[in-house]
Amino acid sequence: MENDILKILISEEELHSRIAQLGEEITRDYAGKDPVILGVLKGVVVFYADMIRQIRVPCQMDFMCLSSYHGTQSTGNMVVRQDMSVDVTGRHVLILEDIFDTGSSLDYTYRHVCSKNPASIRICTLLDKPERRKPGITLVPDYVGFTIPNEFVVGYGLDFNEHYRNLPYVGVLKPEAYQK
Ligand code: 5GP
Ligand code: MG
Repeated sequence: MENDILKILISEEELHSRIAQLGEEITRDYAGKDPVILGVLKGVVVFYADMIRQIRVPCQMDFMCLSSYHGTQSTGNMVVRQDMSVDVTGRHVLILEDIFDTGSSLDYTYRHVCSKNPASIRICTLLDKPERRKPGITLVPDYVGFTIPNEFVVGYGLDFNEHYRNLPYVGVLKPEAYQK
C-alpha cells in the first residue's frame, strides 16, 4: 500500500498540529453552545476521530452518509444514504468533511441540514481545493485545515476505490496505482 504513494503531501505531525489549532478555535467559538458535530461518511472518519477529541466543550456526535456516482470524479448526483439521527432543530451544527473539492457534496449537505431548521450551521473541512470549485458554488468553509493544489489525494480517510483510507498521512498516488 505505502509503495503506491508517490509523495506525502501532509504528514502525520502536520495533521495533528493543525487539528489541535482548529480544536482551540472551535472550542472558543462553541463555548456554551452544545453543538452537534456532524460527520459526513465515510471519508471523514479518521479526521472526525482526531478532531472531536480536540473540541473541549460539551457536544453531541452525529453522522450522515451521502453517495454520489464517482471514481475519481464526483458528478453532483447526490443521495442521502443514511440521514442524521439527532434532531437538530434549534441546535448549532458544525459539519465536518474530509475535502471541499467541486463543492457539490458540501452544498448538498448544507442545504439538507438547513431544511431541519438548526440555529446555525458552520463547516469545517480538513482539505480545501479551491481551484476545483464548480461555478455557482458560493458556500465558503468556516474552518479549513489545509488548502491544497489540484491533485487527487488519498489517506487519512480519503480513498481511491475504497482503498488507502487507513494511511496515516495525506498523499498522492503513483500513476500506476490507478491501473490496479
Ligand atoms: P465535492 O467534489 O463534492 O466537493 O467532493 C465530493 C467528494 O469527492 C469528497 O467528499 C471526497 O469523498 C471526494 N473527493 C474529492 N476530491 C478528492 C481527492 O482528492 N481525493 C479523494 N480520495 N477523494 C476526493
Ligand atoms: Mg469519497
